[in-house]
Amino acid sequence: MASEKDPHRQLGLARAADLILHLPLRFEDETRLTPFLQLRPGEVNQVEGVLTHKEQQRGARTQLLFEIEDASGHRLRIRLLHFRPNQAAALTPGVTVRAFGEVRAGLFGMEMVHPRYRVLRPSSPLPKTLTPVYPSVAALPQYRLRQAIEAELKGADLSDSLPEELRQRLGLPEFAATLRFLHQPPANADTALLELRQGPAWARLKFDELLAQQLSLQRARACRQHQHALALTDSEALCPRLLAALPFALTAAQARCLEEIRADLATPHPMHRLLQGDVGSGKTCVAAACTALAVGSGLQAAVMAPTELLAEQLYQKFRDWFTPLGVEVIWLSSAVRGKARSAALAALAEGRVAQIAVGTHALIQEDVAFARLGLVIVDEQHRFGVEQRLALRGKAETTLPHLLMMSATPIPRTLAMSYYADLAISSIDSLPPGRSPIETRVMSDARRPEVIARLAEFCAGGGQAYWVCPLIEESEKLDLKAAIDTHTEISAALPQLRIGLAHGKLKATEKAAVMAAFKAGEIHVLVATTVIEVGVDVPNASLMVIEHAERMGLAQLHQLRGRVGRGARASTCLLIYSHPIGQIARERLAIIRDSQDGFEIARHDLRLRGPGERLGARQSGQQLLRFADIEADAPMLEPAGHAAAELLRNHPDAVARHLDRWLPGGEARLYA
Ligand code: ADP
Ligand code: MG
Repeated sequence: MASEKDPHRQLGLARAADLILHLPLRFEDETRLTPFLQLRPGEVNQVEGVLTHKEQQRGARTQLLFEIEDASGHRLRIRLLHFRPNQAAALTPGVTVRAFGEVRAGLFGMEMVHPRYRVLRPSSPLPKTLTPVYPSVAALPQYRLRQAIEAELKGADLSDSLPEELRQRLGLPEFAATLRFLHQPPANADTALLELRQGPAWARLKFDELLAQQLSLQRARACRQHQHALALTDSEALCPRLLAALPFALTAAQARCLEEIRADLATPHPMHRLLQGDVGSGKTCVAAACTALAVGSGLQAAVMAPTELLAEQLYQKFRDWFTPLGVEVIWLSSAVRGKARSAALAALAEGRVAQIAVGTHALIQEDVAFARLGLVIVDEQHRFGVEQRLALRGKAETTLPHLLMMSATPIPRTLAMSYYADLAISSIDSLPPGRSPIETRVMSDARRPEVIARLAEFCAGGGQAYWVCPLIEESEKLDLKAAIDTHTEISAALPQLRIGLAHGKLKATEKAAVMAAFKAGEIHVLVATTVIEVGVDVPNASLMVIEHAERMGLAQLHQLRGRVGRGARASTCLLIYSHPIGQIARERLAIIRDSQDGFEIARHDLRLRGPGERLGARQSGQQLLRFADIEADAPMLEPAGHAAAELLRNHPDAVARHLDRWLPGGEARLYA
């Protein structure tokens, strides 16, 4: 009968068998006895001797003091700080005592203070293996946890889930031997290596964990190949018409990505693909071309973005591109209410009327229905949760729509090969022509007045600038105040310039008016909160000042900076920091100063933050890796992927055993 007092329950594990993967933090060596003469203060040792003398020392608290003598006749004093009467009674002259603890230099020579000890029969055998010390909880003492784990190691199914031939080819030790070694290493094992979680046994365990991840993701991917979707063949040739009408030709990278997507869409199985490309790499027109493939096949497309501003910009572009082709684009956000909303919903449900919907979360409201949804596009996918992405996909009546996710924060290779192994990825790996490099400088806020003074000169020469205001503790209200104050301050300091203000609380029309004036060159300096992080496109703006840059993350800084360097002018980005600034913040600023490569920046981001945050939304159903580290263990990722494919092909029972061992909660939910 399972009880709350079961060790595995106390540790939060579902089954007793899961204890085999609960591994020691470190080890204690009880396999040897140290002769008293060799004891050194500060060292932890095991000793044994015959009790020769015992006394109780009275004080604030009574202590029990006894002496033991080893085979060579040397004596050691042992002090128990507290004890029960029956313990004292058992310690009689002549018994053999074995103790484990730290030796200290006392007033009268060496002594051991309050060690773990046992009274035992003379010449009782010593253990042959090191004693594991496990991570535990207060209510669960080590000895009980050790017993429970030892019982599992004897009783649980430790049969190997790797076929023998594969295991040998990979040069990995057997599973059962690996676990025994990790829990109960032999006396001569290299404990330093074990505690660093290195060596062959750890390699096997980490490999198995990565293999489980690969198995579950590859299986999810294979599952989709059995699901049905409509093939998008663009019989009306809308895509070529759209491309011909664009004012530019696709770059080679854009064209390649479009082809990869087109190939997916042409099959009767739902696409599940990520289009990644740095800020400004031109994802929007590739997304529009994909939308054209759907509409040209007689189906609808829905395009969702995480913020009102970003969604609006997408909407404007889509409307400009599609309206001349006779395709209606519908706008849907939470700001669209009443009659306008009913009309939009009716048009989408009708399907003949509206073929494309662009919007925010408003697209996934319950009452939004599509007549024939063929394609779903999610921009800045990592800002949405799994549920939200799935919800939009669920809007299709019968067959699943194809799913294209877009991100300006590239997924580093190791992450793509591990957590995202179920995802097909297309990368726009070069920028459109005509971009100029950005010089980035980091400076303290002591130089702020100097920067303001220089603005005058810069704008007199025809330049335009963004001034991005501090992000204060995630509070929109304070953000707003800082932006308004800065706007007042700069306006007063530079009366000859026109200074605009943009923030999240402006009405859509006001925001649009400010942005239009900035784009038209009527405003010299745009003071803004981080609302301009995404999507804003003003090629003449070539200077960006970011205040309190030390508070921003790498991805955000990179996105913000991506607003400049879009025109012919050489561009500059000034990162202003205030004290106190921590070590990691300093490192972040240095990374942004030294690199403009989104991939490289994303790699640093992963290194500084670990995969947890990046995966936040995605991982709602699946735990992070416990043992393997995708950076340090990167060389294992590919072999684990190959092994998973081989097992799925040829060894279904091994797959079942392996997943049961590693992902007992059932299949991880990783379909979005
Ligand atoms: P992002 O990938 O950040 O969403 P956008 O799609 O907004 O980038 O494109 C950034 C800018 O580059 C836009 O002004 C867009 O019109 C322009 N652009 C996109 N593709 C090309 C191209 N092939 N040639 C020239 N300009 C392009
Ligand atoms: Mg974009």
